[in-house]
Amino acid sequence: MPDPAPLPPSAPPRRPRLRRALLWGALVALLLVAQSLLLALTVSYESSRAQDEADSLAAEAAAEVRRELTSVTQALQSLDWGSPRDDALALMRQKREIKRLEWRAPDQRVEAALESPYPPALFSQMPRQDLELDAELACTTARRTAAPAFSRSYFVPLAGGQGLEVVDLCVPLTRAGRESGFLVGSLSLAQVLEGTAVARAARRHEFSFVEGDGTRLARAGTSRGAGVYVADRVVDLPGSALQLRADATTGRPSLIPNLATSLVMGLSIALFAVVLLLARDVRRRAEAERALAEALAFRKAMEDSLSTGLRARDLRGVITYVNPAFCAMVGFSAEELMTPPPPAAEAVMPPYNPPYWPPELVEQYLRRQRERLDPAAAARPDPRESYETVFMRKGGERFPVMIYEAPLVDGDGRHTGWMSAVLDISAQRRVEEISRQQQERLQATARLASVGEMASLMSHELNQPLAAIASYASGSLNLLDDSSADAGTPSLLRSALERIAEQAERAGRVIKSVHGFVRRREQLHETLPAELLFEAVLPLARMQARKSGTRIDVELPPSGERSARVRCDRTMVEQVLLNLARNGIQAMEPDTPLAERVLTLRVRRTHARWVTFSVIDTGPGIAPDVAERLFTPFFTTKSEGMGLGLSLCRTVIEQHGGALDFGPGPGGRGTEFRFTLPAPPGTETGETSGSATTAADA
Ligand code: ADP
Repeated sequence: MPDPAPLPPSAPPRRPRLRRALLWGALVALLLVAQSLLLALTVSYESSRAQDEADSLAAEAAAEVRRELTSVTQALQSLDWGSPRDDALALMRQKREIKRLEWRAPDQRVEAALESPYPPALFSQMPRQDLELDAELACTTARRTAAPAFSRSYFVPLAGGQGLEVVDLCVPLTRAGRESGFLVGSLSLAQVLEGTAVARAARRHEFSFVEGDGTRLARAGTSRGAGVYVADRVVDLPGSALQLRADATTGRPSLIPNLATSLVMGLSIALFAVVLLLARDVRRRAEAERALAEALAFRKAMEDSLSTGLRARDLRGVITYVNPAFCAMVGFSAEELMTPPPPAAEAVMPPYNPPYWPPELVEQYLRRQRERLDPAAAARPDPRESYETVFMRKGGERFPVMIYEAPLVDGDGRHTGWMSAVLDISAQRRVEEISRQQQERLQATARLASVGEMASLMSHELNQPLAAIASYASGSLNLLDDSSADAGTPSLLRSALERIAEQAERAGRVIKSVHGFVRRREQLHETLPAELLFEAVLPLARMQARKSGTRIDVELPPSGERSARVRCDRTMVEQVLLNLARNGIQAMEPDTPLAERVLTLRVRRTHARWVTFSVIDTGPGIAPDVAERLFTPFFTTKSEGMGLGLSLCRTVIEQHGGALDFGPGPGGRGTEFRFTLPAPPGTETGETSGSATTAADA
């Protein structure tokens, strides 16, 4: 299982953080520059707009003043010497800027004068003679050019420290083609200005006539100019010029309060707020992403470290996810498992079976999958379920698995497939099997123990009668010896008695050995040639063989080969040989034709330290189900069998350090039981045995 992926560090590395800070700094700086520029542009736009307004108002006012003065000039030209005084008065009422009219002789002497009906009267404080110069100069110009001429403006003091800036207009008068004098009109500049419509209409500008150095001569309007947005226009007049000024009452546009600026400021603040919100959003998003990455890494580490296989399938049964444990379990890579089947032409999926399904079970699994993937299955109250099944590893090995399956539900609560936890339970099954066998063995041991007890008891009980039989037999023989003189004592009776004594003694030995075996006393081990063991067993075996017409073959090591000597408890090994021979003879009894009933007893020195004994029959062999339980105590297929023979045989051989097993006989026919016994050390160079004997006894 691969190691779980390391979790990502919780703090972002230094470099990206620095870069992000730089980016944010640059963004804020750019915003600041853009905002300042916008502000400056707004202010400068406002300034130029105010200046333009002042310029155009000044131009308009200058034009109007020129028009007005031209109209005054024409009106004066139409007044003549002969004009009645009433005409002049009417003119002065109409054009209030005309403060005084003088009719002068060609030498400039004032012949008649008429004051404006509107106060104040000119020259009330200072006599006209003192302020004559400008009028005379204008008349001189008028005479020279023979056209009306304006004088320079001059100040006429009035009562109460007041005064009027006045300009004189001198119109030359002619009578019958000859110069007859001048008509001089004194015009109040302030009244000229006030008469203009622009000056009246413009509320936010001060209009004035100024001197070259900026000194204000006469002004109109109530408000004072701020001196910031100033526009000057020169009004050219015959013989003179006037400088007209429009001065806006507003000063420089202040930042606060100013509609445009506050709009820009408001927008900037909103922009900053948006940027801040955006920054917070980005930060939160980054945090969420980091948390998500951590959660993903954690999940991956968890899945990778799991020893349980995880598998997700969509509603069609196609695998959409497997974890490493699942891949390790079945031996296929994730790519191999998740390769989708070729798309079907119709909406219906072609039958899809994953590679870990054993081919012989595909039909059954497909049926089961159809039932399980049915959407109705997910709608059950408890849709989770667990079941046991068999999967196949890549190598073809089948193994049992336990599957716990639950519906897979997406973020919108839709059922999209199934998620399964898969457990390989082959180890568990093995453990269960071992524990079952152990249980069986335990029970058998318990039974063996009681059988052992019984055997011990019986051996004790049988010893007495056997000893009695033996002593009666030898007593009978002695009696026969004593009466040997008597003729006619059948020698057969003698030999029968001898046999009885011999067998009783043998039975006693067997009982003693069994007793010792059951009590696990130190066994009596002796070194002897293997054929001696056969010799002891053969008479009894032959007795049984004769009944079923079986032939017994004995194969000893060929002459010239080293003798097969073994070290063992002679009586017990004889019992083993007898038991194996009896089993072989019994196996051949039911079905094997008479001619083929052969039991072979063979001994071979197979190793410097081991001698192998074989008991071979030509019976039907051992069926696999029988073979499995052959050495289980009390297992038997015979009606009168005890089922203890083979298990005791194996125990005896194993107690000698050897091993007992079995297999098919030579040529695959019948059964061969083999066991090994240790050869005593130093016999490798020992004497050779006698010739091979083959005894036939049918
Ligand atoms: P028993 O002989 O009392 O049945 P064993 O432990 O000797 O007990 O044998 C157990 C079983 O093994 C027998 O019942 C028989 O089915 C089978 N068996 C033993 N030896 C052979 C053999 N040579 N050929 C076929 N089956 C055998």
